[in-house]
Order: sequence, then structure tokens, then C-alpha cells
Amino acid sequence: MGGRRFDAVVVGGGPNGLAAAIELAGAEWSVLLLEAEETIGGGCRTAELTLPEFRHDVCSAFHPLGVASPFLRSLPLADLGVEWVHPGVPLAHPLDDGRVAVLHRSLEETAAALGEDGKAYRKLLGPAVSAGDDLVRELLGPLRIPRHPVAMARFGLTGLRSMAALARGRFEDQPARALLAGLGAHSFLPLEQVPTAAFGLALGLLGHLAGWPVPKGGSQRIADAMAAHLRGLGGEIQTGMRVRSFAELPSAKAYLFDVTPRQLARIAWDRLPSGYRSRLERYRYGPGVFKMDWALDGPIPWKAEACLAAGTVHLGGTLDEIAAGEAAVWRGEHPDRPFVLVGQQSLFDPTRAPEGKHTVWGYCHVPNGSTVDMTGQIEGQLERFAPGFRDLVLARSLMPPAEVERHNENCVGGDINGGVQDLRQLFARPTARWSPYTTPADGIYLCSSSTPPGGGVHGMCGYHAARAVLRRGR
Ligand SMILES: Cc1cc2nc3c(=O)[nH]c(=O)nc-3n(C[C@H](O)[C@H](O)[C@H](O)COP(=O)(O)OP(=O)(O)OC[C@H]3O[C@@H](n4cnc5c(N)ncnc54)[C@H](O)[C@@H]3O)c2cc1C
Repeated sequence: MGGRRFDAVVVGGGPNGLAAAIELAGAEWSVLLLEAEETIGGGCRTAELTLPEFRHDVCSAFHPLGVASPFLRSLPLADLGVEWVHPGVPLAHPLDDGRVAVLHRSLEETAAALGEDGKAYRKLLGPAVSAGDDLVRELLGPLRIPRHPVAMARFGLTGLRSMAALARGRFEDQPARALLAGLGAHSFLPLEQVPTAAFGLALGLLGHLAGWPVPKGGSQRIADAMAAHLRGLGGEIQTGMRVRSFAELPSAKAYLFDVTPRQLARIAWDRLPSGYRSRLERYRYGPGVFKMDWALDGPIPWKAEACLAAGTVHLGGTLDEIAAGEAAVWRGEHPDRPFVLVGQQSLFDPTRAPEGKHTVWGYCHVPNGSTVDMTGQIEGQLERFAPGFRDLVLARSLMPPAEVERHNENCVGGDINGGVQDLRQLFARPTARWSPYTTPADGIYLCSSSTPPGGGVHGMCGYHAARAVLRRGR
């Protein structure tokens, strides 16, 4: 950097690093963003992982948090090339008996399709849907005294439970229970743990309020748009720059790290007080993912046709089965029939694959750092609900946890959320501090998904970190 000085240096160009850099550059700070990989975007990238012209989302695929994020909504994303494509319905969850639970955009349609459980579904999610954007803003904010206490209290009372207890207590029949179980499993926690219900309800709520869209062309479009916006504000980006120690960084007033706590401890070792550093080193990472992508010769041959309307399909059967699988992963085991999240982006965005061909994205949860090949188990679940799936496979890409981490070193042991999001690490993320984005070292901040509100492509961690910097002044 030839002795140059910046107001702020951001290390890491995921959605949160980009968001932090944009917020600071927008306040007329001179900003340099350093990214280890050759492409910008972190967990928000797209690449030809299988065959030429098949464009796969390497990490994030569906963006309920992206369309709902107050920060991303404040950017001119459409002018910068982001076109949201909404699948026919956000989510389908098939069962062995042929029934399918469907999360529609409309609360009413979802409830109506759940038969005798419809009334309970309406009662469960109706108040949150009515609270709308106010509630979303609270959920994507740092922990603080709520600005909408009634909506938050109501959501908190229901959400601060386990999804297993909530779904069993509220619903009589398998489809509604399974739908809720699949939503809760996005937390990576056993479904008997608090606050799995909050995760599940938030995702369902976003399905109704904002949908679960994909960006036309792939998730890379979001990162590219953010990078273009940053450059437009005068920010500089340097890719291919893996920061190993503080000494490599140019002089700046503020340093914001889009990395996880243990990485920050290593990079800023001699700058951080030892007590804080050891708390960062004790930070807990969660289960990993075994991720797969397929190039297919046609659409997935679902037994239940309703699945063809959905962007995302949850495979794992009943609540009991999903709960057992997630609990096994938490204990360090590999279930034979894991819960599998499937994305079929090319059904709704034809730019992802050559005409008549398709891309499929999917993963299951595995113990952190697992080296077990889950190809058979994942494809077994696809064959269970879509017999003949394997016959359509033209090529497949496997990303076990080590490979996920090789693509992005923030995915420690394959953890895609920047650390466990259980009750303790939700409230004290990464450690218990009034402003979790600050550190005891002057001018050093954390802005990754290891800070509130946690994982997902929303940029809110970066935005809140930048606001903490701006509050302290230049
Ligand atoms: C398989 C998978 C599926 C996912 N699906 C979804 C989804 O459908 N929807 C959704 O909303 N979210 C999804 N996510 C989660 C989402 O991708 C992350 O939560 C989000 O990207 C976190 O953003 P971030 O900016 O905090 O970190 P990241 O996106 O992880 O970015 C961190 C960046 O920092 C860089 N970096 C790290 N260390 C250094 C260093 N020392 N020097 C320089 N640069 C460094 C990395 O290369 C990376 O680019 C998924 C993630 C994965 C892996």
C-alpha cells in the first residue's frame, strides 16, 4: 500500500464487509477493502462448479434476508443489476405418504392448504405478519431495547421455545409439523433446543412478507452490485490479499474485520488484551455442511408435482425424523437419512443452465470438520422423493466441510453461520459487550456474521459495525 493512509480498512469482502465499507464510504470516509480470494463476495458467489454454462451458487442461494434487509433495501440494487426472481412458492416439504406442505407467499393460502391445522398456523404467524417491517427491523437489529416492544414481546414469547415443542404443541397433523421442523432446522441446532422456534418462525415470516427469491444470474450479482456501489462512492477494493497479521495493513483510523473471532484473534494477536483474546478463542463453531451441486439433464422428477413450483425443497420427512437427524449431527454422528435442503434455481432463472438443462444446489448438516462423504445419503433422500434423480445427473460437485472452508476461510469446519447461534451465542455474539462490534482495542472492530444478527446475506452486521465506528468519529 506504499505508506498510504485510509480512514478505514475492511478485511474481508463478504456481504458484511462490503456493507461496512459502503456505509463508511457513504459518510465520506476513505475506505480500502481487502479480500483474500480473487473474487469478491465471500458466501455470496456464483461459479461454474460442474460443467461450462451451468452457473451454481457456491454458498448462498435464497435471499429472504437479502430482500428484507433494511440496509440492502437502502441501496440502488436494481440499478446495479440485481433482479430478484421469485419462484412460484418459496418452499415445499414432501412427505412419504404423498402429501406436501407448502409455504406460499400468502399466509391465507398456506393456512388453507394445511387443513385442520390451518387455523393454528394463522394464529401462530398472523400477528407477526401483521407487524410486518417493524418486526423485521427488530429481528435484524442488534440486541437493544425494542422500538416495537409489543410486536417483539409477542414474537419473543413464542420464539423463545424449541421448535419441536412448539410444532407438537400447536399442530395435530404431519404436514404442518414437518413444515415447521424444516424451517427450525435452518438454525443448525437440535430441534429440542431454544431458540429453534425463533429461527423457524422468522424464516416463515420472511416467506410471507418478502418471499425467498434468487437474484437472476446467481448470488454473485448481489456481491458485484455492492462492490460497484462501493467503488462509486470512492471506496477501493483489492482482491487476492489474504491478511495474516496486523503488520501487513496500511495505516488507518479504524479496522473492521469481516472474519470470525478465532481468525481475528490470530490476525490482531498483539493488539488485543489477552482476556478478550482468550474469549474470542473460546468462541464456539457449529455443525458444518456437506454441500453438493448437480448439472441435470432435466428438472428433478419429483413424485409430488407441487415441488416443481418451489425454489427450495426440504427433504427429511416428518418432524420426528428431522429432529432425530439434527440431534445426531449435534452429537457428532452422521444420519443415514439427513435433513437435506435443495435449491432448484434454474427452474425459475433460465440463465443458470443451457436450454432444457438444470442446476440443483443442496446440502445437509454434518458435524464440524466432518470428513465423511455424504453423497450417498444426500442423493438417497433425493431418490426417496424423486425416483430417477440419479439418471439425470450430468455432473456433480462435492464440497465437504474442508472444501467449503477452502473456498472461504470464515466457514470454519464447514460452519456457514460464523458460529453456533444458540441462546448464549445469540445474546453474546462474539462475547458479552454492550456494542459487540467493538473490541477493547481502540480502532479494531468485528463486522462479520459472528456479530448480531448473525448468519445470512443481509449486510446488517457490517452496517451496524460501521455505525459503531461512525459514532466514535474520525
Ligand atoms: C453452502 C452455503 C449455503 C448458504 N446458503 C445461504 C442462503 O441460501 N441464504 C443466505 O442468506 N445465506 C446463506 N449462507 C450464509 C451466508 O453465505 C453467510 O452468512 C454470509 O455470506 C456471511 O457474510 P459475511 O460477510 O459475514 O462473511 P462471508 O460471506 O463469509 O465473507 C467473509 C470474507 O472474508 C474473506 N476473508 C476471510 N479471512 C480473510 C483474511 N484473512 N484476509 C482477507 N480476506 C479474508 C473471505 O475470503 C470472505 O470473502 C450460506 C452459506 C454457505 C456456505
